[in-house]
Amino acid sequence: MKHISADTSSHIISQTANKYNNKTQFKRSALMVAVVLSLGVAVSACQDPNASVQNAKDSTVKSTETAKKSVGVAVVDQAQLAIEISKKYIITDGHIDVPYRLESEFENVAEHTAHGDFDFPRAVAGGLDAPFMSIYIPASLEKTGGSKALADKLISMVENIVKEAPDKFALAHSTADVEKNFAKGIISLPMGMENGSPIEGDLANLKHFYDRGIRYITLTHSKANHISDSSYDEARPAGGLTDFGKTLVTEMNNIGVMVDVSHISDDAFNDVMAISKTPVIASHSSARHFTPGFERNMSDDMIKTLAKNGGVIQINFGSSFITQKAIEYGKLRKAAIKSFSAENNVEEKSDEVEAFKVAYKTKYPYPFASLSDVLDHYDHIVKLVGIDYVGIGSDYDGVGDSLPNNLKDVSSYPNLIEGLLKRGYSEQDIAKILSGNVMRVWKAVEVYAEQH
Ligand SMILES: [Zn+2]
Repeated sequence: MKHISADTSSHIISQTANKYNNKTQFKRSALMVAVVLSLGVAVSACQDPNASVQNAKDSTVKSTETAKKSVGVAVVDQAQLAIEISKKYIITDGHIDVPYRLESEFENVAEHTAHGDFDFPRAVAGGLDAPFMSIYIPASLEKTGGSKALADKLISMVENIVKEAPDKFALAHSTADVEKNFAKGIISLPMGMENGSPIEGDLANLKHFYDRGIRYITLTHSKANHISDSSYDEARPAGGLTDFGKTLVTEMNNIGVMVDVSHISDDAFNDVMAISKTPVIASHSSARHFTPGFERNMSDDMIKTLAKNGGVIQINFGSSFITQKAIEYGKLRKAAIKSFSAENNVEEKSDEVEAFKVAYKTKYPYPFASLSDVLDHYDHIVKLVGIDYVGIGSDYDGVGDSLPNNLKDVSSYPNLIEGLLKRGYSEQDIAKILSGNVMRVWKAVEVYAEQH
């Protein structure tokens, strides 16, 4: 819900769609009728704009049942082998937005939840072992204040999830913790901070957040901050990293916090590459090759530089990170909403505009990327730099209703594995994608910090 443009709007759509799916709440205002007529479609309360999503979820349930049955059974096909692999190796995911999701609407993720992309039963079904919980801080707090307080609050929330279900979840402040928890069959919840604004210009806060378990920091989010310029922000006040940002990268190396280059501008990326003494991660970015001009993804040159540094790009599954078609849809939709609200003289956050969004989506269904499209990103990066520099950064709970069919939630990793098997990836290669590459980077960061 926190990615600007298409991602934010798709999340809003899904929330609105849910709201309007409840027939008792479905009230047709005069303007709503006008909306429908203006779109030239007959929208009825019976229509379910999320039908495709629901179907995908049903198929996920089926695959979960298959998973249960297949344990201990001889591997006879790639689907079964995929499930075996998902259980045999640690699976890390670089970016899952559970804390901010729960901050908006609390649910007990130790049990099956009605909403969201992550909960314990689905994580077990998917073989997920170490999802990085994103401690996401909205860019607006850089100016208004409150970044550090919100980060502390969200970290406490992750600690509470663990405290309430110690047989299911455990904190993980090191690679050794992840391995120890995996051996015990407990899901690790390592933490990364999305947006460095909680550092608030004071290196003492880096130590504070390290002590609380933060193991990567995404230097900024959708706006330039006191550390770095942002790929989403036209303003580039620093022309890359700020002076403080440069110092911070060095101190992150020294203390043992991974530098996350997702979200930052290309110039800031180049500054990080020139300064960092350890490999870095892109916790949730995809290949710009498929989305030309979308700076939030990484260009081929950047991926080559990242690989030279020993770092890892963790592929974001959100459709607008995967295909140009999804990006174009987002742009057209945004323009349509803008003109609707201008023509009807209504606020962009009004009920009328929400109704317009639902009707729009019904007439123009979202062009979900496919699993195959996601696999193309893996193929592209592997062809470019080899198997050692790519991982998973799904952005579950962060990109709303924009996830590809067959990759809808944390029960889906076996589908990814099966796809990789079908494209000829070996079990060892897949193990590197699932966690080997990220664990290598994290260990290198730990070793460097011990020595400095
Ligand atoms: Zn993000």
